[in-house]
Amino acid sequence: MRKLVARPWREYGATKREWDDWRWQMKNRMVRIEDFRRRFSLCTEEEEGIALSERKGGGDGGGGFGAGLTPYFASLMDPKDPDCPLRRQFIPRAEEARPSPADFPDPLGEEDLSPAPAIVHRYPDRVLFLASNVCSSYCRYCNRKRMVGDPERGVTAAQWEEGVAYVASNPAIRDVLVSGGDPLTLSDGRLLGLLGRLRAIPHVEVLRIGTRVPITLPQRVTPALVRGLKRLHPLFVSLHVVHPKELAPEAGRACARLADAGIPVGSQSVLLAGINDDEETLRTLMHRLLRLRVRPYYLFQCDQIEGTAHFRTPLQKGIDLMKTLIGRTSGYAVPKFAVDLSGGGGKVPLSPEYREGSENGHLVFRNFAGERFEYLDDLGDG
Ligand SMILES: *Cc1c(COP(=O)(O)O)cnc(C)c1O
Repeated sequence: MRKLVARPWREYGATKREWDDWRWQMKNRMVRIEDFRRRFSLCTEEEEGIALSERKGGGDGGGGFGAGLTPYFASLMDPKDPDCPLRRQFIPRAEEARPSPADFPDPLGEEDLSPAPAIVHRYPDRVLFLASNVCSSYCRYCNRKRMVGDPERGVTAAQWEEGVAYVASNPAIRDVLVSGGDPLTLSDGRLLGLLGRLRAIPHVEVLRIGTRVPITLPQRVTPALVRGLKRLHPLFVSLHVVHPKELAPEAGRACARLADAGIPVGSQSVLLAGINDDEETLRTLMHRLLRLRVRPYYLFQCDQIEGTAHFRTPLQKGIDLMKTLIGRTSGYAVPKFAVDLSGGGGKVPLSPEYREGSENGHLVFRNFAGERFEYLDDLGDG
């Protein structure tokens, strides 16, 4: 992909050094329609989509779920083809304004499961800690777009305090997933400070960070940050990644730094229509992740967020795609397919059915290759 632009920083009148600086990338994000026009030949769908996001406030500029894209990640996208799988995820489209009867503003019911503003507590032993509502780039299918990117919904210092106090006062919480927004948009001092405070709570066994930054802003994964993270073990990273083209050399190096620091990295992908919902793309993604020492963890059905119907695949499609992976590639390359149920039901795994029923006391199965096998479930007691 990098072949598309030889020295991408030149287009921005920047030096290589600035380009490699994550703060420069954050500061120079594409937000306004002019920013996008300079780099892409936009189609009508995109022109209208960006105009719409600008009317709502645009980027981190104020209110609504605006656009935002790092120059680095934009340089991986095809400037001419609006169907580029990366472009479709990040450049707003007019389709976002199209209502669908299945959509909700908060399908996961997070607002009702929030005992403190920065906390979502759905499962008994673990919580989600929303550390920031800022991202480096805004995925158009964001399941938290009710609050993400909106300066009015920024996470305040007082809310962090309340969140830490909530975790500290609940001994049942043994796992804290720090997410957002993207926690890696915070400075080292703030992020490591928060994680350090959570780590100091005796009943918190495991810390996790949910992030897309190693993909959209890999410059952020600096040696200094990784040294800090390494002191917080056991710490896991859940990496949001959707398409193999996202795995440029820079992202590969960021993943290597995390893995070298002993941080287990798992992937979370969203199944998106026309972007990664085919056998070849998914298999390539999972294989390339495994080579980067990233263990495929979840493949999610796209949540029923307002304005995302054009991204959604039928549930059966995901199950069928799982069937093309299971048994046909390394078990380590196979994620769990799950739907996060609208109405706040939480994640439910969906798996192809390999059991066909029973016959004469034998269970009947079809294996990965479709061959029929019987299994006598005999415990030897009669
Ligand atoms: C996804 C999620 C978790 C983590 O779930 P795992 O299956 O343990 O990865 C925790 N809390 C909330 C609210 C979530 O949505």
